[in-house]
Amino acid sequence: MSSLLKLTKSKDKIHSKILRINSMENGKTLKSGEFLVDDISYQDIFIPEEFNEEQLMIAQTCKDFLETEVYPNVDKTDAPDIQLMKSILKKAGELGLMGVAIPEEYGGFGQSFVTQMLAAETIGSGYSFSVAFMAHTGIGTLPIMYYGNEDQRQKYVTRLATGEYLGAYCLTEPGAGSDANAGKTNAHLSEDGKHYILNGQKMWITNAGFADIQTVFAKIDKDRVLSSFIVERNSPGVVVNPDEHKMGIKGSSTAQIFYNDVRVPVENLIGGRGEGFRIALSILHMGRIKLGANVLGASKKAINDSVKYANERKQFGVFIATFGSIKHKLAEQVIKTFASESAIYRVSKDIDDLITKNKAAGQDKGRATIEAISHYAVEAAILKVYGSEALNYVVDEAVQIHGGMGYSAEMSVERGYRDSRINRIFEGTNEINRLLVVDTAMKRAMKGDFDLFNKAASLFEHMDEIKDDKIENENYFQEKFRVIRNFKKAILLAIQGVSAQFGKTLIQEQEIMNNISDMIMETYVSESTALRVQKLESMNKEMSVFKAILDVNIYDASHKIRKAAFDAVHSFAIPELACKLKKVMDILTATECVNIKEARRIIADKLISDNAYRF
Ligand SMILES: Cc1cc2nc3c(=O)[nH]c(=O)nc-3n(C[C@H](O)[C@H](O)[C@H](O)COP(=O)(O)OP(=O)(O)OC[C@H]3O[C@@H](n4cnc5c(N)ncnc54)[C@H](O)[C@@H]3O)c2cc1C
Repeated sequence: MSSLLKLTKSKDKIHSKILRINSMENGKTLKSGEFLVDDISYQDIFIPEEFNEEQLMIAQTCKDFLETEVYPNVDKTDAPDIQLMKSILKKAGELGLMGVAIPEEYGGFGQSFVTQMLAAETIGSGYSFSVAFMAHTGIGTLPIMYYGNEDQRQKYVTRLATGEYLGAYCLTEPGAGSDANAGKTNAHLSEDGKHYILNGQKMWITNAGFADIQTVFAKIDKDRVLSSFIVERNSPGVVVNPDEHKMGIKGSSTAQIFYNDVRVPVENLIGGRGEGFRIALSILHMGRIKLGANVLGASKKAINDSVKYANERKQFGVFIATFGSIKHKLAEQVIKTFASESAIYRVSKDIDDLITKNKAAGQDKGRATIEAISHYAVEAAILKVYGSEALNYVVDEAVQIHGGMGYSAEMSVERGYRDSRINRIFEGTNEINRLLVVDTAMKRAMKGDFDLFNKAASLFEHMDEIKDDKIENENYFQEKFRVIRNFKKAILLAIQGVSAQFGKTLIQEQEIMNNISDMIMETYVSESTALRVQKLESMNKEMSVFKAILDVNIYDASHKIRKAAFDAVHSFAIPELACKLKKVMDILTATECVNIKEARRIIADKLISDNAYRF
C-alpha cells in the first residue's frame, strides 16, 4: 500500500464525510451560472482556511515530493528527457500521488473534489512535471474512470492509479484544434467484428513519448461525431514522432502520434458509439477546472521567488522591496492570486455537494463526479481564463522584479515565465472559454436552471429608475455586496440589450460576448473574494490585510467591468440608447473611495515581512 494511502485512508474519510455533511446542512448551493441572479451567504462557501489536517497533509506530501524529486532535477526536466520524466512520474505513482481522484476499488483513495484541487494546486508549482502529472492523472486517466465499463476500469484504471501505466489524451489533430469534432481520424470494424481498425494522426499530445495508454478520439465509418477508444502504445501501427521543441514546459513530452491500421479490440470502445465528443468535452471541463488550481500553485511559487529576491537585492543602498513600484507589483500579484483562489475553492465545494447529491440519486461514483464537474461548466471556464491570465501577470512581474537576473535562464522565474504561456492555449483556448462563459450561462438559463431573462428584461424596462443605492451608515460588507449586486445588474442589462439586438445571431458577435464574459468573470471572482473575506471575519481573523485585498480587488473589478460594459454598449446600441445605458453603467460600477496605494502597501508589507505567500 502506498505511503500516502496508508496515511490518509481512515481519518480523511471521516473528515471529508463531516465536511460534506456540514456543507449540505448549510443549505444553499447555486446552480452553474445562477450567481448572476442570486446571492449566497459566506456560510455556504468553502474557503482554503478551512482545510482539515489530512487535506493539509496531502498537500505537504505533494510539496515534499516536488522538493525531493522535482526541483533538484528541474534543470534537467527543462529539456525533453523522456526517461527522466517517466521515472519521476513512476515515483509519484509509488507514493500514491496518482490516486487522489480515483476511488479505492480502483486502486486510489477517492478524495473529495476540494482535496483533489488542493493536490492539483500544490503540484502546479512543479513546472513541466506538473503538466505531465496532470495530463496523466486527469485527461489521461479519467475518461476511462468516468466513462469506462467495469472491465475497462479494472484493467486500466487500477494500473493508471499507481503509475504502472502512464496515460495520454489524444484529441487534437492538424486540422482539428478548437474545432475538436472536425478530426479525420477514422475507425472501422474488422471483418470478424473483433477489432476497430484505426487510422489517422494526432498532434500536440502531452506524454506521447512514454504513455502506455492513450484515449484516442476518432469517428467510426462516416459518423458525424466522435467515439473514443483505449489504445495501447505497443499495438502494431502506433508510431510516435520525436518530441516538439517548445517555448516552455520543455521537460514535458509533446509529440504527434500516427495510427496506421491499428487493431483496437472492440471492448476498448469507451461508452457507446458516437459518445466520444461528449466524453471529450466533459473531460475538458474537468481539465480546465484543475488547470485553474495548477496555475494557482504556479502563481504562489512565482510570488515566493519574487518577494525573496526583493528582500535580498539592494539598489541605492536599500532593499528593492522598500520601493513603492516594487510593492505595487508584489501586492497586485497577491490580490490576483488570492481572488482566484477564493473562486477555485468556492466552486470546488459546490462540485462536492453535487457529487454527493448525484450519488444519493443512485449514480455510480465516476458518473456522479463527471456530471457534477460538467454541470459547473460556466465556473470552470471562468477559473481557467481568470487563473491563467492572473498567472501570466504574476510571472511577468516576477521577471521584472528580478531585473536583468529575471532574464537569466539560471532563475526559476525565467522558466516560470515561459511555462506560464501554454495555460492560455490548452484545455480550450481562452478565446473559446470566454465564449463558453456567456453561451453556457445563457443556455442554462434558457433551459430553466435560473431566471435570467425575465429579470434582465424587467431591469431593462425600468432602467431609468436605477439610482445610486447607497444606504446611510451601511457597514463594510453591506457596501461590498451592494456593489457586487450592481455589477450583476450591469451584466443583466448588457445581456438584455444584446439579446434584443442580435437574438440568435449573438454568438457571431464575439467581441461583445467577450465584453460580457469579462464582466461575468470579474463579478464571480470579486463575489467569491468578498464571501471569503467575510467568512474570515466571522472566524475572528486579523482583517486589515484581507480587507485591503478586497478593497483593491473590487476597485479594479469595477473599472474593468465599466470598461467592458462601455465597450459592449458602444458596439451594439443606437446612440440614444448608448447614452442612456452608459449613464446607468456608470452608476452600477461606482465604488466607495478607498486609498488604493495604502491598501496595496499593507498587502505588500505583509508579504515582505513573511518573505513568502501566507495569506
Ligand atoms: C504544449 C501543448 C500540449 C498539448 N497537449 C494536448 C493533449 O495532451 N491532448 C490534446 O488532444 N491536445 C493537446 N494540445 C492541443 C491544444 O489543446 C490545442 O492547441 C488547442 O486546443 C488549440 O487548438 P489549435 O492549436 O489547433 O489552435 P486553433 O484552434 O487553430 O486556434 C488558433 C487561434 O484561433 C482562435 N480560435 C479558434 N476557433 C475560434 C473560434 N470559434 N472563435 C474565436 N477564436 C477562435 C484560438 O483561440 C486561437 O487563438 C496541446 C497543445 C500544446 C501546445
